[in-house]
Amino acid sequence: MSSPVIINGKEVAQSIREGLVKEIAALKEQGITPGLAVVLVGTDPASQVYVGSKVKACEELGIYSQKWELPTETTQEELVELIHRLNADVRIHGILVQSPPPKHIDEEAVILNIDPRKDVDGFHPINVAKLVLEDEEGFVPCTPQGCMELLKAYNIETAGKHAVVIGRSMIVGKPMANLLVSKKANATVTIAHSRTKDLPALCRTADIIVAAVGRPEMVTADYVKEGAVVLDVGINRIPDETRPRGYRIVGDVNYESVKEKCAAITPVPGGVGPMTIALLMANTVKACRQLTR
Ligand code: NAD
Repeated sequence: MSSPVIINGKEVAQSIREGLVKEIAALKEQGITPGLAVVLVGTDPASQVYVGSKVKACEELGIYSQKWELPTETTQEELVELIHRLNADVRIHGILVQSPPPKHIDEEAVILNIDPRKDVDGFHPINVAKLVLEDEEGFVPCTPQGCMELLKAYNIETAGKHAVVIGRSMIVGKPMANLLVSKKANATVTIAHSRTKDLPALCRTADIIVAAVGRPEMVTADYVKEGAVVLDVGINRIPDETRPRGYRIVGDVNYESVKEKCAAITPVPGGVGPMTIALLMANTVKACRQLTR
């Protein structure tokens, strides 16, 4: 088998950002600046990093941003009150509450309070419904949307292909499956999960595998048919004493063995990861356009 195409998420994300720069400039000419509010409750270090990168991306693109860092003991009522204020703030077009919040906060109930028109994460039930209904005004979670953009950027055909999505979360697996089965993509989709029987055999029937499991390097060459396309959504920290931080990041796919068999693959890092923030920026600009037209 010839060497696979290594899907470069950094490059695709960069080209999305370049498109956004033009769109933001056009909005600013009309006196409109897109705005995003990022809300973090608590001090989870990974969440702090994610929130920091989202705000930085806003600054780089000229998107107005507000970073709300609330103490761990913030009550559900206080958080909801802030969301209501952000819903009413005309400078803000996108609102996201960094996941996961502390245990005493009911995340689903909080999301219900976000104005669906500002729900740039695409987690509000109205937006989940719009995705299923293929209503393009809705917001789609950024990571699966990023996966679709990678397929598009590399001209990877989805119509009539069998896609196996491993994972059924509301953040990745389910929206990914909905996007792939939509009339735009026309794939035949199987959603696999922790109770799926003989996952390797199922995956060997796939033309496209999307791994969103959260288990380091679970998908080995044994799961992959020759010539399949493999998108690895996983971000897992595994201990590595040779690294300054004492860990390294791996995906849900065993990259070294799978790349020998597949036609195209996303590396971790540098594959799906960079797309998520780019699509968050795109969703914020879309929310701004829709709210100001
Ligand atoms: P999750 O824990 O909510 O869902 C994991 C899914 O995997 C579940 O539906 C479960 O049924 C399934 N699963 C678990 N064990 C399995 C097994 N042995 N066989 C088959 N299925 C199994 O996770 P998530 O939020 O969907 O995230 C998945 C991975 O993607 C994580 O590594 C996460 O860090 C990563 N992620 C990356 C980005 C990004 O920006 N690239 C964004 C979100 C999540």
